[in-house]
Amino acid sequence: MFDAAVIGGGPAGLSAAVNLKLLAKSVLWFGSPHGSDKVEKSEKIANYPGLGLLSGAELNRRFREHAAAMALEPVDRMVTLIAQTDEGFQLLADNELYEAKSILLATGAVTAKGFEGEAEYLGRGVSYCATCDGFLYRGKTIAVHLGAARFEHEAAYLAGLAAKVYLFAGYRDCAVRGENIEMPDSPIVKVSGGLKANAVVLRDGREIPVDGLFCLRNAVAPASLVPGLALDGVHIAVDREMKTNLAGCYAAGDCTGRPYQIAKAVGEGNIAAHAMAAYLAERK
Ligand SMILES: Cc1cc2nc3c(=O)[nH]c(=O)nc-3n(C[C@H](O)[C@H](O)[C@H](O)COP(=O)(O)OP(=O)(O)OC[C@H]3O[C@@H](n4cnc5c(N)ncnc54)[C@H](O)[C@@H]3O)c2cc1C
Repeated sequence: MFDAAVIGGGPAGLSAAVNLKLLAKSVLWFGSPHGSDKVEKSEKIANYPGLGLLSGAELNRRFREHAAAMALEPVDRMVTLIAQTDEGFQLLADNELYEAKSILLATGAVTAKGFEGEAEYLGRGVSYCATCDGFLYRGKTIAVHLGAARFEHEAAYLAGLAAKVYLFAGYRDCAVRGENIEMPDSPIVKVSGGLKANAVVLRDGREIPVDGLFCLRNAVAPASLVPGLALDGVHIAVDREMKTNLAGCYAAGDCTGRPYQIAKAVGEGNIAAHAMAAYLAERK
């Protein structure tokens, strides 16, 4: 069991992982090897002290170099569910189960609200994990919402199992193709059904009957990720030590609220790491 699991490969997650490592804690760090998409997209960063004017791509590169220099290698998997146990936390990521005594949510701001009905049908026809639940839909008809190109291999995997796939890409130039794949030109707005989800409703009013819906996005809404987590509006509620309402669970960065800034994310990651180390010391 790890001392700490850090979920998020952006500035908040990196800052926490670096500090936890310096505090001699064993760290399990989930993030993309490319770093944060948001940092990468920033044309010019002028408000990060000490580095002058630099592009987001350059700062991201330096973040990656720093991680490598500290022998911190992110696990490139989406965490889709976290459960609190007597010992700490169990984390599900791409069908693998991990355990940690404490966790940090550094998942960034969730820009996608989710579809109407999505939360209601989660686990009852709606899934966030292709490798965990794909086998349930062998020979069936499914809808797949692709939030980013990094999940295209998961959509291709699902198309290999399902009889028919309605694929909705939330970005341009999706490369997934297949004889059983249809790409409607209107996005999903709602999931509907009875006891289980059985249809997706599109913005143009069409209703497509499906056996299930996979939502493959860069982030999972915090309340779906950690059941019982207290929110403050759309953000995770934290105190000045970045503690959430759940013992051993901390949050940092954009997911805790505005301003959405790199320096704030890095600072909160640092505070959280120290608070987590104190929590681990108390547990002994
Ligand atoms: C175009 C643009 C320009 C910007 N310019 C500036 C600027 O000039 N100055 C400035 O200070 N800020 C700027 N920002 C804001 C800045 O990028 C963010 O405040 C910062 O990246 C927040 O860091 P974070 O670590 O909280 O979240 P993020 O950088 O969003 O990182 C979170 C990471 O966690 C991953 N993740 C989420 N959920 C999971 C999960 N369940 N499992 C595994 N991984 C997960 C996400 O994929 C993501 O990589 C800009 C943002 C944009 C979009």
